[in-house]
Amino acid sequence: MRFDILTVLPGLLESPFAHSILQRAQKKGIAEIHVHNLRDYSSSKHKNVDDYPYGGGSGMVMMIEPFAACIEKLKSEREYDEIIFMSPDGVTLNQSIANELSIKKNIIILCGHYKGIDQRIRDLYVTREISIGDYVLSGGELPAAVLVDAVVRLIPGVLSDETSALSDSFQGELLDAPVYTRPADWNGHKVPAILLSGNTPKIEKWRFEQALERTRKRRPDLLE
Ligand code: SAH
Repeated sequence: MRFDILTVLPGLLESPFAHSILQRAQKKGIAEIHVHNLRDYSSSKHKNVDDYPYGGGSGMVMMIEPFAACIEKLKSEREYDEIIFMSPDGVTLNQSIANELSIKKNIIILCGHYKGIDQRIRDLYVTREISIGDYVLSGGELPAAVLVDAVVRLIPGVLSDETSALSDSFQGELLDAPVYTRPADWNGHKVPAILLSGNTPKIEKWRFEQALERTRKRRPDLLE
């Protein structure tokens, strides 16, 4: 799977993809992540990517040209399944959207900055608008990293233990069960005995009950 991320701040996207599961997915050749600096696609002398808003008001607006030039170049090289704009007024990201995107091949992600991007980019190119929650961040880079992480870990072969994604919260109706590791007794705080019993069917039953209980308490809406 290939992601092309368009941004004015490529530096913001260096670290999130250079560690852990996302790094491994790229090394294994399962995911390719390309970050494009929109300034490289600006035709203006000073490599401007933003300008004052028509009609006045505060904040700068990202111009259509650099986005259009970069998108057109990418589209001339391969077909894209989606062009996603990260935006607080988009559909809120959830596990089912992540699952849906994890079976696509090529995805472009647009990161806004400042006041936002010229509406014509959204009208002409964007196939989907995704928010990571009801709050406003300074740019679409962190949201893009969140989206890519949520999607890539679902691609078969990325997680070393594939079944672990299946028991994650939101993958089914239930939140994940509590987890423990060594030591079995920490200053008198003990790990539930059942987990040390070696009785797999009983452990599975306990985990299911714990997950159900946790979901009832924290997210009853998931059980409706
Ligand atoms: N004026 C816009 C916010 C601009 S914030 C509004 O009120 O809707 C600048 C950029 O950050 C946005 O264009 C978007 O790409 C990104 N962004 C901010 N918050 C986000 C969120 N919750 N989810 C996804 N992207 C977000």
